[in-house]
Amino acid sequence: MGRVFNFSAGPAVMPESALRRAAAEITDHGGSGMSVMEMSHRGKHFDAIIQRTEQSLREVLDIPAHYKVLFLQGGATLQFSMSAMNLIGKTGKADYAVTGNFSAGAFKEGKRFGTVRACVDTSDNGYTKIPAQSELDLDPEASYVHYCMNNTVFGTKWTYIPETGDVPLVCDMSSCILSEPLDVSRFGVIYAGAQKNMGPAGLTVVILREDILHPIAPIPTYLDYASQIKTNSMYNTPPTYGVYLLGLVLDWVRERGDLAAMKAYNEKKAAILYDVLDSSQMFISKVDKASRSVMNVVFTTGDADKDDAFVKAAAAAGFVTLKGHRATGGMRASIYNAMPIEGVEKLAEFMRAFERA
Ligand code: PMP
Repeated sequence: MGRVFNFSAGPAVMPESALRRAAAEITDHGGSGMSVMEMSHRGKHFDAIIQRTEQSLREVLDIPAHYKVLFLQGGATLQFSMSAMNLIGKTGKADYAVTGNFSAGAFKEGKRFGTVRACVDTSDNGYTKIPAQSELDLDPEASYVHYCMNNTVFGTKWTYIPETGDVPLVCDMSSCILSEPLDVSRFGVIYAGAQKNMGPAGLTVVILREDILHPIAPIPTYLDYASQIKTNSMYNTPPTYGVYLLGLVLDWVRERGDLAAMKAYNEKKAAILYDVLDSSQMFISKVDKASRSVMNVVFTTGDADKDDAFVKAAAAAGFVTLKGHRATGGMRASIYNAMPIEGVEKLAEFMRAFERA
């Protein structure tokens, strides 16, 4: 079977060139006579791989030299608690912008470690609109402010970086990292699970400023950012194959240009689908126009049976994993970096034809 157009929210479509390179090197990486999966994480072959991946990530994201890069396991979900444990020791307080299920999840975890507040909560509008800066009720004594930049489930995206004065920002960028240029210097901690724009599940990337760490005590060693920094993500065995694949994905990003080029490509793809929604009598988007995600396009016909029929017909035509998250119902087309524009154009055509029929 040929490749389908896979609109999964994650694990998601990967650049085909990265998969083909991994396939070509599956039994012998770089003349080592070993698969990357078989290498000691402490040997010279893997050492070259992890250093290359980190360097490439630093260049693509323009990460300032004083920021540390960690390659961890546990998903973004572990970062909900790990970020709290490592930062809330400063004042015992933190603010969370609750704009979707994942930021609500992070807020819930934060509560286990200190006095945390929702500085904004958009559940009353069904998480369909990103709040304005003026709606954020920020506590200057918070140890940090946490938010999730792109809400994978509800299809909304912050289009500005909140201004929080001297309070460090902690940001979940799982579903938008590498999709556009980023001013890393505005953040204290950035974290992202790899399985959308960076590679396979099992790798979690954390980018952070060491000077903002104020851990609660006692903290398990694995969960202590300082110990992960000290050991270069080698406190235990890191997710070696994921680190290698991230390197290959970054090669692909670089071949396409820079993150400004990636942003332009992603915006072009998203506009194709939002144009269909805006001109349709059948498909509706409930998301506020100014809050629309470029990565996750969430829509519905408003009728659960018709939604089901659409998802089934689309799958039969080679457009797979379009079913929306159980929290929203309807449909979701996740169009991460690696989704080719042809996939989006053909899906748009298919939607128009489905509506006509
Ligand atoms: N945050 C966001 C924005 C996500 O999209 C996801 C996964 N879909 C998570 C957190 C949870 O990530 P993980 O499954 O890697 O723990």
